[in-house]
Amino acid sequence: MSEAIWRYDRLSWLEMKAAIDRRPQPVVAVPIGAVEDHGPHLPISTDNDILDAVLAECGRRAEGDLLVLPTIPFGLDEHHLDCPGTIAIDIQTCIAYLSQTAISVARHGFTHLLIVNGHGSNASICDLAARQVVLATGVICAATTINAAVSPALVNDALEAGRKGGYGSIGHACEYETAMMLKILPERVQMDKAPRDIGQLKLKYFNWDHPEPSAYSWQDWWSRFSKEGVVGDASAATVEYGEKMFEVTVERFVELVREFRTIPIRDRVDHH
Ligand SMILES: [Zn+2]
Repeated sequence: MSEAIWRYDRLSWLEMKAAIDRRPQPVVAVPIGAVEDHGPHLPISTDNDILDAVLAECGRRAEGDLLVLPTIPFGLDEHHLDCPGTIAIDIQTCIAYLSQTAISVARHGFTHLLIVNGHGSNASICDLAARQVVLATGVICAATTINAAVSPALVNDALEAGRKGGYGSIGHACEYETAMMLKILPERVQMDKAPRDIGQLKLKYFNWDHPEPSAYSWQDWWSRFSKEGVVGDASAATVEYGEKMFEVTVERFVELVREFRTIPIRDRVDHH
């Protein structure tokens, strides 16, 4: 299937009009990632690389059921600015930029929009932006995260079953993200520099191992708890794990998209 079928911005406006008129209508994905340190062994583009690769494959496999916007490359990242290269956008600008992007899509007549996050700290931004889109336009707009090191809900069973690093191996620039990069862009991974940095806070209600949910969320300045920008065991990453996680993510995300677009838009009722 040609790329023009799934890349939102590669359609002509006439093709876009046809996509809007099609029934069932495609879901539109609005991706947002980050440029931030990912340890000594991965490029600072890692979150965007994983997001782009997964969504491209989802777009191909969804066969017209999914249109993917270009990734918004920068997100909420001030807490990473102690590491050279990170780009940080403030909270209000992130929410405004993301919601206005999605609202533009909705104004053309698309009814089901998914904000797709690839970077942990964008999660609350994505949720708020999605809410803003619903309130402003009445369409169905949700937020989800495709990066399993950030939010493993979609693939947690596979994430847990396949890892070799054990407790604490998955957090950031970790066993999972390194494995995904070994699958997607192996030439950008320097495995000889891949560290193991376990030993983050593990309390009764809070931990740094992402497959195990914490009861509260809290984000410190990154340089106060991670030595090299890694939380987890990057040295345990294998291409086999990356291939398995990539496949299960794509398979389930396409399924999620097809479920998502069945959510009906009901009429509001004014009870005043
Ligand atoms: Zn990342």
